[in-house]
Amino acid sequence: MKRIAIFFIMHCAVVLALACKGKSDSADIEVPKKKLVTKTDDAKTDEGTVSLVISGNDAMQFDKKVLKVKAGAKVKLTLRHTGRMPVNVMGHNVVILNKDVNVNAFGSAASVAKATDYIPQDFKDKIIAYTPLIGGGQTTSVTFEAPEVGTYTFICSFPGHYALMRGTFTVE
Ligand code: ZN
Repeated sequence: MKRIAIFFIMHCAVVLALACKGKSDSADIEVPKKKLVTKTDDAKTDEGTVSLVISGNDAMQFDKKVLKVKAGAKVKLTLRHTGRMPVNVMGHNVVILNKDVNVNAFGSAASVAKATDYIPQDFKDKIIAYTPLIGGGQTTSVTFEAPEVGTYTFICSFPGHYALMRGTFTVE
């Protein structure tokens, strides 16, 4: 009887260890790859990716108001949700809008676009890039090519968030 109990405990330990291993394997381990983009014409083909990281919290705030890159750079924008609230209550994304977009018009269209994670399909061609929508504890990212020199607005398009959760994406 004792033997069976020991066997059972060991079996549980193995199962647990395997479960943990599976988890750590699937975690998104990020190797920061910050590299300066040189001013050569073929920067697109072989140069490193510029990594930008921004966080959003449960108080509806981004930790950065300005994101800056060079024109033509390949950009990896990572969003971390440092809060605990679920995506349906305190969802965050980062949407970079084109220069000519009326942010208020976009924000109200986004607020009713629940089916597409608050990305209004009528405005799809007015968006430079956007990350998936995430909840507390999650991280996501999007990779894109920086647009032409200028000042763009980024927001979180979750309903009611864009008034507070917005900043400037500068391409120089
Ligand atoms: Zn948000």
